[in-house]
Amino acid sequence: MHRDDFPILTQHVHGKPLVYLDNAATTQKPTAVTDAIVEAYTTWNANIHRGTHHLSIVATEKHEQARALLASFIGAAEPEEIVFTRGTTESLNLLAFSFGEAFVSEGDEIVVSTLEHHSNIVPWQMLCERKKAVLKVIPLRDDLTLDIDALPGLLTQHTKIVSVALVSNVLGTVQPVQEIIRLAHERHIPVCVDGAQAAPHLPVSVRAMDCDFFVCSAHKMYGPTGIGLLYGKRSWLEQLPPYQGGGEMIEHVRWSGTTYNQLPYRFEAGTPDYVGSYAFGVAVRYMQTIGVETLSQHESELIAYAEQQLQQVEGVVVYAAGQKKAGALSFNVYDTSGKLVHPFDIGTLLDRQGIAVRTGHHCAEPLIDHLGVPGTVRLSIALYNSTEDIDAFILALRRATQMLA
Ligand code: PLP
Repeated sequence: MHRDDFPILTQHVHGKPLVYLDNAATTQKPTAVTDAIVEAYTTWNANIHRGTHHLSIVATEKHEQARALLASFIGAAEPEEIVFTRGTTESLNLLAFSFGEAFVSEGDEIVVSTLEHHSNIVPWQMLCERKKAVLKVIPLRDDLTLDIDALPGLLTQHTKIVSVALVSNVLGTVQPVQEIIRLAHERHIPVCVDGAQAAPHLPVSVRAMDCDFFVCSAHKMYGPTGIGLLYGKRSWLEQLPPYQGGGEMIEHVRWSGTTYNQLPYRFEAGTPDYVGSYAFGVAVRYMQTIGVETLSQHESELIAYAEQQLQQVEGVVVYAAGQKKAGALSFNVYDTSGKLVHPFDIGTLLDRQGIAVRTGHHCAEPLIDHLGVPGTVRLSIALYNSTEDIDAFILALRRATQMLA
């Protein structure tokens, strides 16, 4: 699907055609996006906001148009609810810091789940350390689904926020976020949704979901590296103090003190990545042109095909087999004596055959510990992948397992 838009995919690696199945780490970029970056630097580059000259006005318009486009892409009520950040990680650090300053004190509780990415664990742990608060964790059932029945017991009068991923970056499974939001809201607790692995694959509407915060990264959505967003409901963002100080985020600076700018600029200290925001906008427009429903359908068929093919390879165990997945799955290989083949060895042998997958803990060590393995092999797809890619991957995997036997 639209493979010709991605020139990087035409290359050979180790003499074999590249099969790129590491999209959960980062997606490749269509020429529409790389052209947009060149266009920005060659035709309208200038620092934005407060500029009186032509280029600055154009650059400001492009940046703010991108904000409006992204707001509509994720279904936000207004562009001011979109804060540009360096990516999901910075969004979560911003939120944990600012929300923590405003609302968390000693003895309070924050709830995450067992399958979170480190980005949705460590900033909360740091906050808990700073404020002497407690981090609580939604457990997993044996089938690796979230034990949602345990959630009501974890939500107390001390719970200040719940933060969970919509799609697991390791298992690819879609989490029951709607139910989590319902249970939390019944108790007036806000919910942050980590959409890093959802926004590239599923239609997202923050308003339909009714989450209070949402975060994602452009580079996983065909956009550039170094930019992402934090969505927050206006009513919440207005209550949060700034995260970083500097230019842009102020209203007035006097020796007697500083007053802060309005939303969303209050959270965007310094020169923003306006070329990045513009290219992020171009990337989501690219997704919209194809149709998010269309790419989502294509990917869900492809991941089901990959899972079904993998299960026919001797010694392969697919995690969370049979569950609804978006964009990714994880597996391991066991040899004939039942011993785990180290995922790194599988990854290396696949790479020699031109197949790019990721192996290891995928920045989700608590989940990997739960699985009781040193890591997994993760296959992750994007709109440009095809059944031919999966077939090439399966063939290469069979060769790899034969070599290791
Ligand atoms: N959350 C999830 C679920 C992820 O998959 C990732 C990246 O893999 C992140 C957070 C962190 O994203 P970034 O590295 O773009 O900040």
